[in-house]
Amino acid sequence: MFGWLKKKRRERALSAYAIPDDEWQRALHELPFLDHYDPKLIARLRELSTLFLVEKSITSGAEEGEYALEVTPQMRIVIAIQACVLLLGKGGTVADAIEDFANFENVVVYPGDFPQSYDYEDEYGIVHKLDEPIAGESWEGGPVLLSWPVVEAGYIESGMSLVVHEFAHKLDMLNGDIDGIPPLPREQIEPFRSAITEAYEDFCIHVDANEATAIDPYAAEAIDEFFAVTCEVFFEEPELLQFEYPDYFQQLRAFFRVDPIAGTACAA
Ligand SMILES: [Zn+2]
Repeated sequence: MFGWLKKKRRERALSAYAIPDDEWQRALHELPFLDHYDPKLIARLRELSTLFLVEKSITSGAEEGEYALEVTPQMRIVIAIQACVLLLGKGGTVADAIEDFANFENVVVYPGDFPQSYDYEDEYGIVHKLDEPIAGESWEGGPVLLSWPVVEAGYIESGMSLVVHEFAHKLDMLNGDIDGIPPLPREQIEPFRSAITEAYEDFCIHVDANEATAIDPYAAEAIDEFFAVTCEVFFEEPELLQFEYPDYFQQLRAFFRVDPIAGTACAA
């Protein structure tokens, strides 16, 4: 729940910190998957992105050294747009919609892959320290970490968006479980669960058989990764997802309340 004051503050921020026209157009130009969207939705996306930029800090992984890079206003806008596209069809005002991203403040950008350090306990209870380079990570209740070259590669590599991927994990985490099922109205939960499970199991069969797949095989890693990867495909290459998994595509469409093929809002 959020208060009346917070809502007022957000409404004021929309005009006080509106993204300048030229910067907005330049950023949109980098994201051709939005070209065919209804201008009304694009205007809403601009407002959501404005609030995102006001409320989040988007900074370099380090001040100096190998993990430092200069984060430009343009980079911040491009990140904000791709994060906010996930909230585009949410009901209520934009001040209500951005509330889905309220439980974290920081986005950290790296000049390349960065080390992910975590402890891993094996079957004998022995804890190992792992240190693997990765391109993106989303911490529960914490920051989103992004490798900038991979964000940029998404501009040209159709069907991919590291930003959409990591912020899709954020939506999945909102209801406490990281299980590929984002918060949904009660009557949508079971249809969503059965559609994603069926699609995921089918996808794993193809990947396990070493078949070439049109969707990134990383999606077979776990069902929460399948959700994040297919959110990328939903926005960036929707016809592909609709063709491969039509039932699941419908469920995502009902969840996001956006028809990415038509570029319009749609009812749940
Ligand atoms: Zn992931």
